[in-house]
Amino acid sequence: ALQCGIVGLPNVGKSTLFNCLSNAKAQSANFPFCTIEPNVGVISIPDDRLIRLTELVKPQRIQPSVMEIVDIAGLVKGASKGEGLGNKFLSNIRETSAIIHVLRCFEDDNIVHVDGSVNPIRDKETIDIELQLKDLENVEARLQKAAKLAKIGKNPDAVRLTDVLGRYKEVLEQGKSARVVELSEADEKVAADLHLLTTKPILYVCNVDEASVVNGNVHVDAVREAVKNENAEVIVVGAGIEADIAELETYEEKQMFLEDLGLKEPGVNKLIKAAFRLLELETYFTAGVKEVRSWTYPKGAKAPQAAGVIHTDFEKGFIRAEVIKYEDFSNLGSEAACKEAGKMNVEGKEYVVQDGDIMHFRFNV
Ligand code: GDP
Repeated sequence: ALQCGIVGLPNVGKSTLFNCLSNAKAQSANFPFCTIEPNVGVISIPDDRLIRLTELVKPQRIQPSVMEIVDIAGLVKGASKGEGLGNKFLSNIRETSAIIHVLRCFEDDNIVHVDGSVNPIRDKETIDIELQLKDLENVEARLQKAAKLAKIGKNPDAVRLTDVLGRYKEVLEQGKSARVVELSEADEKVAADLHLLTTKPILYVCNVDEASVVNGNVHVDAVREAVKNENAEVIVVGAGIEADIAELETYEEKQMFLEDLGLKEPGVNKLIKAAFRLLELETYFTAGVKEVRSWTYPKGAKAPQAAGVIHTDFEKGFIRAEVIKYEDFSNLGSEAACKEAGKMNVEGKEYVVQDGDIMHFRFNV
């Protein structure tokens, strides 16, 4: 399943954020969250298009796309060497597709900071170093094996892998994350199953106090500056205040408090959407009277691959796809109206699916 892991030092607000996400369910009955394990929740991706389609089609069921969020607590200095429950948590991270790194950007003398003061840049480095050390250990072990294979000869993959691992080792030893290494397509292929922690896509969440949710603060500025070359998104969320708001009874009350803060929607919504982008996923819809549903596929997927998300038979037996653009459906109001207006296209195997497409697959069984 699609999974994002929340990491960060203790007391930066990870579980508060996790709880906000779990309370996002109260925002809209259509976007449920359920906790499947104490630290794992499944959250639906907010999408206005799905709501619009539901209004038009009036289906029996509605099924949004979902994402699993894992609260990875217990990451501390020394985790890579097994400090605390370090190794267990690091293996939790290995299974996630992307990382949400929470940084404490709020001052509060009542909340102890493990290193004595609020300094998100130092905190980020502490976590980065643990992840890098773990990767270095992994890379070194793999490198020995790959180098042996490469020496025996007749194994071009091993030669290439040895080269890639060598480059990873070099940057990791310099205290950088493996994601800075640029790989060719052929490199990517041999490196695909390394699952390094520091090559995972990452986004940063600055957890701020109430007064800073709109414009940020000096800590947020420092974070933005520090990560500017990482090509990573930085999101500002007031987890504490949003957790309070999430406790409110009615939607109207929540909206009122959010507006008082200067927000249109909860910061966690921004976060969910950003995490979704981070995974390089897009959404297509199926819109039948039984069910209106959102499906996620890797950006750039062709029609058969996208069909395979529903069922492998759809991919194997793919014949063609009937495609309506979301805008057309929304404007014209129904599949029949789109057909009539010539807004339903028949596409073949080579069609690259576009975000928002409403798909109907034809296939052989
Ligand atoms: P974790 O250890 O990273 O999971 O941190 P927690 O979510 O347990 O938060 C640690 C403490 O900080 C709790 O007492 C929270 O209520 C508090 N906290 C979390 N976010 C904020 C915030 O934005 N502002 C303030 N003042 N306190 C917060």
